[in-house]
Amino acid sequence: MYLLPNMRVSGLLYPFSNSTAFNVEARLENGQLYIHYGENRAAQCALDALALSTPIPGVPVQATLPSGERFVPNDPNFVWPGRATSTSIASLERHTMVILSALLLTPLLIYALLFKVVPACAVWLVEYVPESVVDTMGQQSMYVIEESFLSPSELSVGTQQQIHTLWRDALKALDLPGDQYQLSIYDSEHFGANAFALPHGQIVITDDLIEALKDNPSAIRAILLHEIGHVERKHSIRLAAQAFAGTIAMSFIFGDMEGVVELLIGSGNVVMGAQFSQDMEWEADQFALDRLAHLGHSNDDFAQALQRLQSLTHDKEEPTQATPKWLEYLSTHPSLEDRIKHAQSYQKN
Ligand SMILES: [Zn+2]
Repeated sequence: MYLLPNMRVSGLLYPFSNSTAFNVEARLENGQLYIHYGENRAAQCALDALALSTPIPGVPVQATLPSGERFVPNDPNFVWPGRATSTSIASLERHTMVILSALLLTPLLIYALLFKVVPACAVWLVEYVPESVVDTMGQQSMYVIEESFLSPSELSVGTQQQIHTLWRDALKALDLPGDQYQLSIYDSEHFGANAFALPHGQIVITDDLIEALKDNPSAIRAILLHEIGHVERKHSIRLAAQAFAGTIAMSFIFGDMEGVVELLIGSGNVVMGAQFSQDMEWEADQFALDRLAHLGHSNDDFAQALQRLQSLTHDKEEPTQATPKWLEYLSTHPSLEDRIKHAQSYQKN
């Protein structure tokens, strides 16, 4: 025995063999249905004894009493107590085809969504991300990185000026907007000898990297060009869009919209933790080599930059458990040997 709630339901009562309907209020009490209608006429039966019509969305489920009266609730969403679930499951079970199709189609749809639609949208979307969004993403990320990992450069003013001059000359010669591209020099325990690009065009180079290449400014220029390549090809935005799109799709599938909010708040971390794919590194390398050629510099500048960093890695005596500082720039830039060879054998088109 289950406990049924007592309730009142308004509806129409059709007496047996009579098409005149009565507006009534049915009482459901202690598992029984009571209806008074007309002049002192009454219908009564156990809820269990009612014959219910097949549930159809938007249509009230009518109940036929054993004595022949029919009761139709006014509310199309009224659910007969104790009956609803078993009735709708039973009717679903009859529709084997529906279930089979659902079983087959759901994974196919999820697959298509995650592996076809989402990546395609992400790549397509990148072209349409407004500049203001890119700026916000970049500035937010830079704020987080600066607070946590960067301190003011300890290089001499003269050295810093030399790098800034080299940078400005390159921007000018390449006709790149000086108000979009900004170079910042920082000291950083965390990043060691490193350079990275933020999506809005801010390039950061560390004291350690400048120190490592201070006798070869052309190599520094080559690395800066590589970083500009990441910005020009919108690599950060591509990564973020892919990460966001995947999460949004998963949130949609699992109905977890909190995930989307978290993701928007944490967008700085996505950009910061971003690891460019090998394809992206090749693209940035190609950009740097093309621009070096355009500027009349040698493709060997870039090869030399990579080789210097590689040799510094080897000079490092005892590699500690933690990633050696010199390795960090290289570890975000995979397949070094191939890239050096590629840079050395670069042919201008
Ligand atoms: Zn890179």
